[in-house]
Amino acid sequence: RGTPSLRVTEWSDMVRWWPTLGAASEKYTRGVVGVATGSSTYPGAAVLSVGGALAGPTGMVRYAGGARAEVLHQHPSVIATGKVADAGRVQAWVCGSGLGTGEDAAAELRAVLAAPVPVVLDADALTLLVDGSLAESLRKRDAPTVVTPHDREFARLCGEAPGADRVGATLRLAAWMNAVVLLKGDRTVIGTPDGRAYVNPTGTPVLATGGTGDVLAGLLGSLLAGGLPAERAAAAAAYLHGLAGREAARGGPVTAPDVAAALRPVVARLS
Ligand code: AMP
Ligand code: MG
Repeated sequence: RGTPSLRVTEWSDMVRWWPTLGAASEKYTRGVVGVATGSSTYPGAAVLSVGGALAGPTGMVRYAGGARAEVLHQHPSVIATGKVADAGRVQAWVCGSGLGTGEDAAAELRAVLAAPVPVVLDADALTLLVDGSLAESLRKRDAPTVVTPHDREFARLCGEAPGADRVGATLRLAAWMNAVVLLKGDRTVIGTPDGRAYVNPTGTPVLATGGTGDVLAGLLGSLLAGGLPAERAAAAAAYLHGLAGREAARGGPVTAPDVAAALRPVVARLS
């Protein structure tokens, strides 16, 4: 275990952590993020998570799931396949939002967990982790995993609600799962298995609307595929997502697609 530490993420962290885009950049060297979200029942979750991924630093997004037509209609630059196994090489996976919790969804999650690359798990992927064998394969992963629960998902994973000590709760779950935990909320907390924690200061209650978590998961996957270490990717995703919420609110009532769109002017300040 490292020395426990707690810090509040700052804009200067974004400037230091954001990957530089050099003249020799090429779409593959910028990183390819794979997105395994959505389904025919929940195509919107796929569109939103891909939207978040496209706002990040990577050069390419591959989509694998049951909402190909909707994703391609909204985001024609994406390469779409039906299954994780057919997606080709990616440098990080995002899995969960709107995926469903049946056998097919579990098989896709298993394929993602077996990939030797960083992984973000959200929403239905977290629900599927009540299956002990999936939770066990997560704990045994060598590549980093980031889980992004809100309070109810946290309670399902942990057996109890986060309670008042949100940093302590986040760090306990991180150590137990061998994963970086991003506990969403007013002040999102990021914790690592070895005891480091970040608190996000940019949250805004306008983000408390359906689908914003899907955008966050996609952005986080792009930061991982772009080469950021998992804890920095998680802290940066929360920070930029909060700023995008504030930016979007200037235009009136905020919906999740507005947050994905507002990531662009926020990220533009970094390049
Ligand atoms: P989800 O519940 O998965 O859709 O994710 C909701 C997103 O909105 C997360 O990024 C939360 O951190 C954020 N959020 C929800 N409620 C609040 C709040 N009251 N203040 C700030 N951020 C919030
Ligand atoms: Mg969610």
